[in-house]
Amino acid sequence: MTKLEDIKQNWLNKFKKPFVIAGPCSAETEQQTIDTAIKINQDYVDVYRAGIWKPRTRPNNFEGIGKKGLEWLKYIKQNTNMLTATEVANKRHVKEALKYDIDILWIGARSTVNPFTVQEIAEALEDTKKIILIKNPTHVDLEIWIGSLERLINKNIKNIGVIHRGFSTLETKLEYRNQPKWNIALEFKKQFPNIPIICDPSHITGDKTKILEVSKKALEFGYHGLMIETHINPKEAWSDANQQITPKELNDIIKNLINYKNKKIYNNKYTSHINMLRTIIDEIDQNLVININARMQISRNIGILKQKYHQSIKQPNREIEVYQNIKKYGSSLNISEEFIQKIFQIIQQESIKIQKNNS
Ligand code: PEP
Ligand code: MN
Repeated sequence: MTKLEDIKQNWLNKFKKPFVIAGPCSAETEQQTIDTAIKINQDYVDVYRAGIWKPRTRPNNFEGIGKKGLEWLKYIKQNTNMLTATEVANKRHVKEALKYDIDILWIGARSTVNPFTVQEIAEALEDTKKIILIKNPTHVDLEIWIGSLERLINKNIKNIGVIHRGFSTLETKLEYRNQPKWNIALEFKKQFPNIPIICDPSHITGDKTKILEVSKKALEFGYHGLMIETHINPKEAWSDANQQITPKELNDIIKNLINYKNKKIYNNKYTSHINMLRTIIDEIDQNLVININARMQISRNIGILKQKYHQSIKQPNREIEVYQNIKKYGSSLNISEEFIQKIFQIIQQESIKIQKNNS
């Protein structure tokens, strides 16, 4: 049986570098779909994307235009130099997309999480020569992402790749809509260097002003391509309006990226490696701050509770218990006792201060 490590990825070779997929989050109307395609610079973009069936978090929103959007994609394929791509989430979508000769089918983040769904799609695609891309699952689970690729390979589907679109968290005050968790995607890349990896800065950031910074990082880390949501009139978009850019903005971003690459900023091994590690550190630091903040919020609530029931703020037994817990946990991870105690002393002091200020 073919193994993921042994797959040779030649499909990428026929595309430009970086390989760019662009187009609207959703095909909305014939005019919006075709006008966006016409305005996209085909010197930079090889593949036109448009969502036909949209996985929305809440019902009663626009859920995709359905089959008639496939007619518009067919027209674009026939009248431009671009190939076409769309998301499929079940065997009916696969059947329709293949009927309209869509070139690239991708499995969305909400489908990758479900082995039954991925299996159904893999079976519907058996032996296909089409390019199939798998977005990372919404939650952090490298195994299920890899497993999805294996399900494709088991059905003799060999032109495959992945899309990194970040991971959902409950935290609302994040820098981006979805946390990149670069370490997960980079771990994937390390394990499977032959599998093309494409970054989706639109869904990672959720913010059109941040597309460039994330795209730069992705290219610097050796990603093979980008998927960027592009809309003729982003403000009026029926889905993901905040993150879509105009074809002109897309053009400027790609020019900027090509320039950046030509300056060889990231061709230096030391610089690119250290930048990668620093990006991972920055993200971990951000999570530390998020967790400290979450801890302080709870601590504040404890302060209110203590006050209500006339309990003292300082409770030495509880402090000892907290130290014992974290020391035990820290030593299981080989973190020095002294170091972890120091950190928690500062945290405890701040907690007490917050509780006192509350009372
Ligand atoms: C999309 O690409 O429009 C989409 C729905 O993406 P994701 O599966 O990453 O949420
Ligand atoms: Mn979208």
